[in-house]
Order: sequence, then C-alpha cells, then structure tokens
Amino acid sequence: MLDAEFFRRWMSATADAVDREAGRLTELDSAIGDADHGSNLQRGFAAVAAALEKERPATPGAVLALAGRQLISTVGGASGPLYGTLLRRTGKALGDDSEVTPGKLAAALGAGVDAVAQLGGAKAGDKTMLDALIPAAGALGESLSFGAAREAADEGALATVPLQARKGRASYLGERSIGHQDPGATSSALLIGTLADTAEA
Ligand code: ADP
Ligand code: MG
Ligand code: MG
Repeated sequence: MLDAEFFRRWMSATADAVDREAGRLTELDSAIGDADHGSNLQRGFAAVAAALEKERPATPGAVLALAGRQLISTVGGASGPLYGTLLRRTGKALGDDSEVTPGKLAAALGAGVDAVAQLGGAKAGDKTMLDALIPAAGALGESLSFGAAREAADEGALATVPLQARKGRASYLGERSIGHQDPGATSSALLIGTLADTAEA
C-alpha cells in the first residue's frame, strides 16, 4: 500500500531529478522550443517540494492535488497547466483514502493522462509529454510494475525523436521538429522514473 509519505517522497525525488536534469531539458527545448523547459520545471517542483514540506497533506490524493496546484500557479509555460492537471486529476481520482494500492494508482494515473489529452488536445504520436505518459500509464495498468512503467516511458520519450510535432511551440517548426527528442516527453519519463525509484527504495 502507498501512503501520503510515499507520494511526498515521489514529489521530492522529482524535484531533485528536475534540478539534476534541468540543463538537459532546457537544451532539448532550445532545439525545438524556447529554451525554458528545465527552468520552468525547476521553479515548479521547487514550489511543490516547499508546499508539501510546509502543509504536509495527510492523504495521497491531497499530496498530488497540492502539487498540481503549485505547478499551475508557478509555471508560466504550457507544461505548468498540463503537469498541474495531470497531478490534480490523478489526485482527485485517488479520493480520500489514506493508503492506495498500485492498481488504484494505475487507474488514477490513467484518468490524469486522459485529462492532459483533453486539456491540450494532443494525442499519441503528436510529439508531446503524452508520448511518454500514455505508454507508462498503460504499462502500469497492465503489469502493476513501476519498473515496466519506467521502461515504457523511457522508450516513449526516445520514440519522439523521429516524430513531427503537432502540438505546442515545436509544431511551429513543422518538419524541422523532426530529429529532436521532445522536452516534455523527456521530463515525463523523469517523473515516471522517480515513481519507480520511490517504489523500489
Ligand atoms: P512552453 O512551450 O510554453 O515554453 P515548456 O517548455 O515548459 O512550455 O513545455 C514544453 C512541452 O510541453 C513540450 O515539449 C510538450 O511535451 C508539452 N506540450 C506542449 N503543448 C502540449 C499539448 N498541447 N499537449 C501536451 N503536451 C504539450
Ligand atoms: Mg519552452
Ligand atoms: Mg516558454
């Protein structure tokens, strides 16, 4: 069973990973965007970590809801509302339980991913964060293995390289977006990777 402490550790591990990888995320975004993805997420997840430390929400759902609100209010770019929606919707689907099963988290994450698709109007293959999140949520739902979800997310992020972007800033480049890994899919793979790390710790 996964309790609020597990979800706080996941968010704090994500803040650390985003700090560590900010340079790479921004470099990817400089190729097909506006070179701010790393700093956007650094600012956002630093606010998430600080808010969770201060408020210490008591349930998994409340942890993710607070994290999502922080991302929406602190990240100016497209990724703020999208990641904020992912975490808020996932948290909402977890309800008020003080502990949740991996199966419940898998279903909730699926609902969160659907909400991102609805908000941003993107689908699989559009070269966005969804190209990591959709396979990750699918793998977690099928196998209930966090390691399998991490692998699926990593593969999904890599598979964005040959795609042409159909949503977001990168889509303005048309065919010139081909040949670069999507920054948001890369950060989504980080988010799923830290989930697996937290589960394995
Ligand atoms: P901005 O593009 O506003 O500078 P970021 O650089 O923080 O925002 O985030 C860019 C990432 O957001 C992209 O790499 C992509 O993965 C994701 N993204 C952009 N638009 C959409 C969308 N409509 N649906 C899903 N993801 C999107
Ligand atoms: Mg950007
Ligand atoms: Mg921007």
